[in-house]
Amino acid sequence: MTILLGAIADDYTGATDLANTLVRQGMRTVQLFGPPPSGMRVPEADAVVIALKSRTIPPADAIAQSLAALEWLQGAGAEQFFFKYCSTFDSTPQGNIGPVADALLAALNQDFTIACPAFPENGRTICYGYLFVGAQLLSESGMRNHPLTPMTDSSLVRVLAAQTSHGVGLVDHRTVATGSKRVREAFAALQAEGKHHAIVDALSDGDLLTIGAACADMKLITGGSGIALGLPENFRRAGKLPAGAVADQLPAVPGPGAVLSGSCSQATLAQVAFMQQSRPSFQLDVMKLAAGEDQVGAALDWAIEQLAHGPPLIYASAAPADVRAAQDKLGRARAGDLLEAAMAGIAKGLIAAGVRRLVVAGGETSGAVVQALGVDGIRIGPQIDPGVPWTTTLGQPELALALKSGNFGVEEFFLKALDCAP
Ligand code: ADP
Repeated sequence: MTILLGAIADDYTGATDLANTLVRQGMRTVQLFGPPPSGMRVPEADAVVIALKSRTIPPADAIAQSLAALEWLQGAGAEQFFFKYCSTFDSTPQGNIGPVADALLAALNQDFTIACPAFPENGRTICYGYLFVGAQLLSESGMRNHPLTPMTDSSLVRVLAAQTSHGVGLVDHRTVATGSKRVREAFAALQAEGKHHAIVDALSDGDLLTIGAACADMKLITGGSGIALGLPENFRRAGKLPAGAVADQLPAVPGPGAVLSGSCSQATLAQVAFMQQSRPSFQLDVMKLAAGEDQVGAALDWAIEQLAHGPPLIYASAAPADVRAAQDKLGRARAGDLLEAAMAGIAKGLIAAGVRRLVVAGGETSGAVVQALGVDGIRIGPQIDPGVPWTTTLGQPELALALKSGNFGVEEFFLKALDCAP
């Protein structure tokens, strides 16, 4: 197969978010969970997104996994490459955005790329290099309390500079407003100064289209899913992608549905509360898990009984104070691992009980669930809410999955998603 765009994403829901953008712009897109095993038949696609779970692992591991993904994408003939991370620039003080971007640049024999996590449709905008979530600076948003990657500095130039030994420059919105030619010139000027990275301001989808056009010849682009908005048009302009193509068709996957939520993001907490108004729910207790209680068995017994009456909700999601209390007792990583493992076990049990449609909230949580289910890849279908499409699995049994990154989706997201499942 020959693909046009090859992308590497640092978490599973982020990969789906990117794939969703590409599909909406007319690129048939397949998402793979890691480089595919040899012998796996990858369906024909214009773009392939390889999803990793590399956001919070040690930088050396993130680099190794990203380079392996790059190698597969190069082998599949990709012309351009994309490193996708979260629209809130989620990273630890060590990375992995800077280290992975540097490694990919080196492997591609390049010395310049952009970093643009902006996603205006979801309220993420960048102004003078400062990232906003809605009207709040990143560091004043709910992201300051994230269980794994608390973001306490809104200056992306500063955050990225701390993760790379190469220079980080800025192309601000005044330049972006003057069009893609001037943006390209600004890239060239920063490159001439020896900078390897440019944070690029974007306040609107129009800005993203301008930046996308300016990146037509850039071998590697890094950013959120928003910046991918302008890339398919480059391929269309070059005659490599047909105009008006429908890229979001999925096979029908009938069967019972369920919702698993391991995200503690503000949007998810509201979604959990909303679904609880009309559906019964089961809350996992991390302290009971730590004490060795069979929460997985208890949740499954409860959920399987509920299935006949409609989709059940199983959640670990909790308010920041409760999350902190659990982390103080167990440690951040252990609390997260215990709950992710429990969600993974519950997902397996639900599928064994006949569930075929699963909504999962949380990036890390989705990663754990997809790994436990042994899913190698998914086809990307129609969008439910910005950044979240329905997908169907490539292997057997065929499942419909909606993998939702923490902060995405309207309040009624869970039931809305199940109502429009394929
Ligand atoms: P998001 O997409 O919102 O970032 P993730 O699933 O990526 O969600 O991350 C949330 C992390 O928090 C997971 O590791 C999850 O297991 C953990 N977590 C969920 N609920 C709790 C809780 N009540 N206490 C501590 N950690 C929790």
